[in-house]
Amino acid sequence: MRVIPRLWLVMAIILVVLAGGFADARVLRRGMRGTDVLALQNILVELGYDLSLDGVFGSETEGLVREIQGALGLQVDGLVGTKTLEKLQDLQESIVTHTVKQGDNLTKLAHQYDTTVKDITIYNGLANPDRILPGQILYIPMRSVAALSALPRRRVAMQWPLQGRISSGYGYRIHPVLKTRHFHGGIDLVAPEGTKVLAAASGRVISVGKRGNYGLAVVLEHAGGITTWYGHNSKVLVQVGDYVKQGQAIALVGRSGLVTGPHLDFRIKIGDQTVDPLEWLP
Ligand SMILES: [Zn+2]
Repeated sequence: MRVIPRLWLVMAIILVVLAGGFADARVLRRGMRGTDVLALQNILVELGYDLSLDGVFGSETEGLVREIQGALGLQVDGLVGTKTLEKLQDLQESIVTHTVKQGDNLTKLAHQYDTTVKDITIYNGLANPDRILPGQILYIPMRSVAALSALPRRRVAMQWPLQGRISSGYGYRIHPVLKTRHFHGGIDLVAPEGTKVLAAASGRVISVGKRGNYGLAVVLEHAGGITTWYGHNSKVLVQVGDYVKQGQAIALVGRSGLVTGPHLDFRIKIGDQTVDPLEWLP
């Protein structure tokens, strides 16, 4: 009497596994959507790529697949069948993520994860290996991946959020309203009220709302513990949890917060620390 229900359970599990196996077996290509596409995008994000997790196999996903296929010596067709998926999963298993803590340096991390400084530097596309910041996410290759250096760089490629004159740069300045010396964590871009503010990179909306002197703001999260900040808007066009593509309009320029006129205050943070956006923008 006890054996029978257990047998059914085993059969049900086998059926579920088989069904899952068949579902996974479809060759993913541009234009497809679904949970298997989302699973593929999740692998790519875990590998450190900046991608919208929208479950849609679009040009962004295809472009990345092609680049990786090229680096791994696979046929470059932008299709994800068993072969490409296995290679990607293999790669995923050999990469762990590490959030940088105060006092971390690459020598210490290389020792901790039994890898080399060179592998971490190459894999993360680090311009300066001596400069890693708390909160920054590093992708640590646990064993030497042959095609490591050929893989597309992980550093988030930014675009300008709008075209406008820089009225105030990054660093110490005399505040235009308060007339006191303080550190300016972003760049101010002057543009007429209502100008579209574009996402500097693909990412997820993690905050929308009023932030005191910074006004009505949007914050996007990207791969690698990087966030971009857009302040002083008149209107926000996205919601928390949305995935936005690079170049997508996320807000309209305004004069909310402590300002003398309409402009965008654009910031880039790695972890909790601001960096000079001009070092990141093309
Ligand atoms: Zn500003």
